[in-house]
Amino acid sequence: MREVNNVLLETKLAQLPAGLASRQLRDRVNHADDRMLFRINPYAFAEEAGVPADRAIELLLRASALGLVRVEWSLVCRGCGECAASHFKLSELASTFHCAACATDRMTNLHKQVEVGFTVHPEIRALRYAHPESLELEDFFFGYKFSSNILVRGEGVRLVDYLRTHTQILTRLAPGGRATADVVLEEGWVVGSPRAKLTVIGARVSDTREVELVFDGRAFEPRPTIAPGPVRISVRNDSANPLPVLLYFTPIVTYFDYVPLLSGQRLLNTDDFRRYLGTEVVRPGTGIPTRDNTLLFSDLSGSTAIYDRIGDAAAFELVSAHFESLARMVTRHSGVVVKTIGDALMASFSHPADAVRAALEMGDALVGLTEPLSLKIGIHRGDCLVVNIRDSVDYFGQMVNVAARVQSCARAGDVCLTAAVHDDPEVLELLKPFGDIPAERHLLRGIGDEQVVYRLRPA
Ligand SMILES: [Zn+2]
Repeated sequence: MREVNNVLLETKLAQLPAGLASRQLRDRVNHADDRMLFRINPYAFAEEAGVPADRAIELLLRASALGLVRVEWSLVCRGCGECAASHFKLSELASTFHCAACATDRMTNLHKQVEVGFTVHPEIRALRYAHPESLELEDFFFGYKFSSNILVRGEGVRLVDYLRTHTQILTRLAPGGRATADVVLEEGWVVGSPRAKLTVIGARVSDTREVELVFDGRAFEPRPTIAPGPVRISVRNDSANPLPVLLYFTPIVTYFDYVPLLSGQRLLNTDDFRRYLGTEVVRPGTGIPTRDNTLLFSDLSGSTAIYDRIGDAAAFELVSAHFESLARMVTRHSGVVVKTIGDALMASFSHPADAVRAALEMGDALVGLTEPLSLKIGIHRGDCLVVNIRDSVDYFGQMVNVAARVQSCARAGDVCLTAAVHDDPEVLELLKPFGDIPAERHLLRGIGDEQVVYRLRPA
């Protein structure tokens, strides 16, 4: 049943600017299957709507702010591909999560493990996924449990489709219930299931063996290694609750690739996120790990003398205008301004090359000003924590300290890069016009190891 609250839908759509693909969103809400409105991948939506991805992301973020859709942060296990949990609030994320399918605790990683999708708001249209326990089993596993953004490396197919073709047992076992399948196992196969694992290895056996896997409420036991050949495999539910069971036999170990998707990290580095959903923050006192984030620090050199010469009010106007212009450059290169402190600015990017592009543009922006101002910029990339400082998304960790200290290596007009930034292939390409840049070694205050720093002196 597709019951759409059309009055509410139209009221909210009317608040979106024209030309943002809102027509395509209306069509989808009115006509598409629930699957298409559940954890919408903005890149897939953009492709279908024939609009650039940035525009689709802006549309969906604005639609989230209006309550037309909801941002869904899914914690997808990189071990098995299942969505272990999903949250409608960033503040509901913790630094670790539990994958019941793998029976393992995993570190939350905004860069790799958190997939952001957009789900239509239940007041606009109720989706069957709101009640996963009543889904058809096929839909439960392949539409709801497993991420649809994962590809099987080397196979060119989605994990959900791959597992579907290799499924032997798909059933819901009542407490005490049992299901059986006869299979001929081949060397190297992986017999998998949420909460179970068998590895097929050794010399081939011709007799049919019986293997029983028993679910004890947490995982299937045992997790044996068995030889290739025929096997009668059964699964039994010894827990007190009904258990959806999926048992698949795949001829290869599955390594994952991903379709273009909006990671939690990428979303936090999106200016539109801060603009439209700026109240979304990490829970105070919690640090959510993220990988390979790039931070840029800039400081205005020569400003103190200007305060003396032209007075506080005029200097303040000048510095404010400077920050506005820097913020535009950060946004233009797919980054966000995290904060400004005095004459300094901190910005965050998903890709080091974007940060370098923004930095080079920033230097140019001061050329032609009547006052003798220049920038000192430092850029570093690495792993850090996303935290809540003064009710805003901020970053914490030694990587942040290194980024700030590298900035202090810069003299007026310099952009200083750490080796981690400099060595990125896209950055190396950008740096070609600078010729051979010598590596400098610096011992930075408060940082144990010597850092290699590359200094760009824009002409
Ligand atoms: Zn898992």
